[in-house]
Amino acid sequence: MKTIEFSGKTGICKILLGRSFSELGDFCAVDRAVLVVDENVFRHHEKKLAGYPVIIVEPGEKNKCLATVDRIYERFLDLNVDRSSMVIGVGGGITCDITGFAASTFMRGIPFAFAPTTLLALVDASVGGKNGVNYHGYKNLVGTFNQPGLVLTDFSFLGTLPHEELKNGFAEVVKHALIGNGPLFDHLEEEWRAVTSLDYGKIEEVVSHSLAVKIGIVSLDETEKGERRKLNFGHTVGHAIEKATGYSHGEAVSVGMVAAAKLSELKGTLGTDDVNRIERLLRGFHLPTRLPEDKEAIIEALSRDKKREGDDIHFVLLEGIGRATIERITIAELREVLRDLC
Ligand code: NAD
Ligand code: ZN
Repeated sequence: MKTIEFSGKTGICKILLGRSFSELGDFCAVDRAVLVVDENVFRHHEKKLAGYPVIIVEPGEKNKCLATVDRIYERFLDLNVDRSSMVIGVGGGITCDITGFAASTFMRGIPFAFAPTTLLALVDASVGGKNGVNYHGYKNLVGTFNQPGLVLTDFSFLGTLPHEELKNGFAEVVKHALIGNGPLFDHLEEEWRAVTSLDYGKIEEVVSHSLAVKIGIVSLDETEKGERRKLNFGHTVGHAIEKATGYSHGEAVSVGMVAAAKLSELKGTLGTDDVNRIERLLRGFHLPTRLPEDKEAIIEALSRDKKREGDDIHFVLLEGIGRATIERITIAELREVLRDLC
């Protein structure tokens, strides 16, 4: 059990690792707590959540929208939620993002917390202060920057998480190791079997180091002006793959990270041995390292990337395992690497 404190512009966020959800009452007034819970999480863990008023959120990106937020506001009114309340999002990244946004905007901001139930939400979505919803087909277009006061992590939620969803989290853990913690990468190479079999002790260690990378980067750049771009490692190509194919986020980012590693190799900042190590570890987590057949659609999606400037694109590369750097690369260089990845 470990506590990490992160001091952001909008307040202090306390992250309690490896606790039990039943401890929630130690951190907030039980009679003022309201849970916003993912429907699947509620189905699997109803007993654990008993005793609190619950607002259910339907799963899926299509429900990460203003209509859901509107429904939550209505329930807040029914439940007399006010600034003395504590709203706790219990679910994956979607629930955390919606809850953070609803709580940040209701009455111009009421206290909120997260109990992340997916590995991705544990290591990524629950920290960093970004929240929001999709709008007219644009992901996360409407939102705020605001830290939760508390993140209570109970790893036992992961017991019911489908393996495919776990893989999304593993991809982000590998990303954090690659951009900011070389020893974590070495550790994952040794322990990936124990981690994939959900040994909670090992999970806590990995989550804690992974979070430290994200927090370290976010602390330097809360509102995404420079340093925070490093968190996009593997995501430029990853998002294009996700759009153009049926790959999940984690699968797409996995191939995106291999593409970025190969580009780094091409630029001479990463050795071939390290590229091979990265591919091997990703395969250990059952993540793909090669592109699906439709390469042209992916290149087309990349060419429309909103971060593109002329023929260049800001791209996160590696200077060895554990160190990221932001460079401008050309679409032609990217094409060359993608051709290699088929
Ligand atoms: P998710 O919230 O959709 O959850 C994935 C699936 O798992 C859902 O079907 C959900 O119902 C189910 N589920 C969740 N917990 C479960 C459990 N313990 N047992 C069984 N089923 C469970 O997906 P996610 O991958 O956690 O999050 C993705 C979202 O996070 C995206 O919308 C993304 O934009 C957002 N995100 C936000 C940030 C941020 O900084 N705010 C960072 C990364 C991702
Ligand atoms: Zn991601």
